[in-house]
Amino acid sequence: MVDFDLSEEQVEFQMVVRGFVDDVIRPHAERWDAEGELPMDAVKQMAGLGLFGLPFPEAYGGSGADLLTLCIAIEEIARIDSSLAITLEAAVGLGAMPIYRFGTEEQRRRWLPPLAAGDALAGYGLTEPGGGSDAAATRTTAKLDGDEWVINGSKSFITNSGTPITSLVTITAVTRDGDRGKEISSIIVPSDTPGFEVGGGYRKMGWHHSDTHELAFNDCRVPQENLLGELGGGFSNFLSILDDGRIAISALAVGLAQGCVDESIKYAHEREAFGRPIGEYQAVAFKIADMATKTELARTAYHKAAWLKAGGRPYKAQAAMAKLYSSEVAVEAAREAVQIHGGYGYIEEFPVCRHYRDAKILEIGEGTSEIMRILIARELGLQPR
Ligand SMILES: Cc1cc2nc3c(=O)[nH]c(=O)nc-3n(C[C@H](O)[C@H](O)[C@H](O)COP(=O)(O)OP(=O)(O)OC[C@H]3O[C@@H](n4cnc5c(N)ncnc54)[C@H](O)[C@@H]3O)c2cc1C
Repeated sequence: MVDFDLSEEQVEFQMVVRGFVDDVIRPHAERWDAEGELPMDAVKQMAGLGLFGLPFPEAYGGSGADLLTLCIAIEEIARIDSSLAITLEAAVGLGAMPIYRFGTEEQRRRWLPPLAAGDALAGYGLTEPGGGSDAAATRTTAKLDGDEWVINGSKSFITNSGTPITSLVTITAVTRDGDRGKEISSIIVPSDTPGFEVGGGYRKMGWHHSDTHELAFNDCRVPQENLLGELGGGFSNFLSILDDGRIAISALAVGLAQGCVDESIKYAHEREAFGRPIGEYQAVAFKIADMATKTELARTAYHKAAWLKAGGRPYKAQAAMAKLYSSEVAVEAAREAVQIHGGYGYIEEFPVCRHYRDAKILEIGEGTSEIMRILIARELGLQPR
């Protein structure tokens, strides 16, 4: 039998996060967006709720929850504030997760507890200035010199890489390039390593108060034991991290779309035109009905992907489908929500204005919509170019 219910604990947890978002995040989201800096107090309060340790075992300071529980938190935060939602998603799913999944026991014990506690943040350095979709085209190199890796190169758009509490970035780097092809490995680079340079922040369309930087590595030396996973395993390991990341980005997109539905319903009741609330006009009510329907379907898609993963079944295609569909639903819902708000939708005091700017990246980050379609087509036995 199919069961669409969340567990009792998950429902309770959802209510706690919703209350937290209403009390702590909602009143400040617009100001934080205008200021464009990651609000460290809010990050600390999110850490106090245990959000950064959700999927990690208690032995490393986590609470041993599943991916769906993390997604519930991301969805709730994204209803109001996508910048903080991506901060959580990237910190847990991209920053800390590679250390948990591929790290040795020693690496886990050393690096995970402060990340799970939210006392530190980690970045995930895959994308380079020369390309993100073609991640195998990595140009950053790591060469062994005695018992140290010497890293040279750069990474672009790395979330959480330049905050006051960023402790490390895991990166992909070419560790051998010869006749037998390129070997890409992943390496932990602590942020206080000499030669680790954090560039200035970007002027982004949205996600204004999430932390995103370009990184440069100039003869950056880290101990040989900072190799994460097997030599040459970095590329496939990093790609498998993105399968889970896509489920979490789908949750973020669903949260944003739900925020647009909520704001639109409220506005459709309040705003009057031609002597009646605009929600009484079919043109407006049907827009909201379509937004709500697609948001619900997108939610079901990511819940199913998380359910497949929890059951130990293949979920790559479902994760890509959930990410593709829900990011496009979020962009559409934000566009329609602005339309429903008329001129006020174009004004920053109205949350849908920020949602509109925050939505577009969802079709780009952690694999563009084009790359999602390629992955899905491949899972269907096709080989699109
Ligand atoms: C705010 C923000 C935060 C980010 N955070 C991180 C992070 O923490 N870590 C990280 O590693 N990266 C991060 N990224 C990078 C992000 O994942 C990449 O931008 C994304 O994967 C796309 O790569 P690209 O920008 O190089 O675009 P490109 O790969 O250059 O793509 C350009 C266009 O070409 C299309 N395209 C490319 N190849 C094909 C193909 N084979 N067939 C059809 N179309 C194709 C793409 O779909 C896209 O439309 C972040 C980006 C942003 C903007």
